Amino acid sequence: MFKYETHLHTAEASGCASSTGAQMAEQYKAAGYTGIIVTDHFFNGNTAVPQSLDWQERVELYCRGYENALVRGREIGLDVFFGMEYGDGCSDFLVYGVDKEWLKKNDHIIEIGTESFLKYARSQGFIVIQAHPFRERDYIFSTLHAPRLTDGVEIVNHGQNDECNRRAEIYAQWYGLPVTEGSDAHNSGAAAKGGGILSPVRFSSALDYGRAVVNGSIRLCSRSEKSDN
Ligand SMILES: [Zn+2]
Ligand SMILES: [Zn+2]
Repeated sequence: MFKYETHLHTAEASGCASSTGAQMAEQYKAAGYTGIIVTDHFFNGNTAVPQSLDWQERVELYCRGYENALVRGREIGLDVFFGMEYGDGCSDFLVYGVDKEWLKKNDHIIEIGTESFLKYARSQGFIVIQAHPFRERDYIFSTLHAPRLTDGVEIVNHGQNDECNRRAEIYAQWYGLPVTEGSDAHNSGAAAKGGGILSPVRFSSALDYGRAVVNGSIRLCSRSEKSDN
């Protein structure tokens, strides 16, 4: 089985992350992963990218953590793919299939709001996974749940407690939505904890991963370790 981290932040682009893309790549390689998908907070989340810059410059900086991970990954033999975490601070959605050129051309995607963005992203062929849909924080008073506008649900997120993850799993079951797992790693120490997914085939893109979630061909690392040993 090929092991992937599906939800990961870098210090270059996420204001809350403390390890660079290169450091992340090194630690995930050392922990035995085949690949990682870099999903930094977009400009409507906890971004490290200054808002004062123009859109093209902001997109360049946004992609830097991914690009640094990609360069290091090529040197050490780790596959590195691009994704994004689009969110308003309360509700967050992981998008797979998006790339830098698309972001540069779509400078309206924050102002259209979350629901319109989800519809638009899926119309582009991207796969949208709701991240930690029942996350609890002292600044969260309501969360958007959009079962008809998402392709799957992150039911195991290593940044959440068991109760929040259990609610997410029940939610996915209610709506018959595909499920996945991610560490939501903000520093390279997360690699050793072993979150993410296993796939019987090697992915060649983030979209490959998204499609594997939808067709149910992945296994969740946290549910697989016992049976593998
Ligand atoms: Zn964060
Ligand atoms: Zn995240």
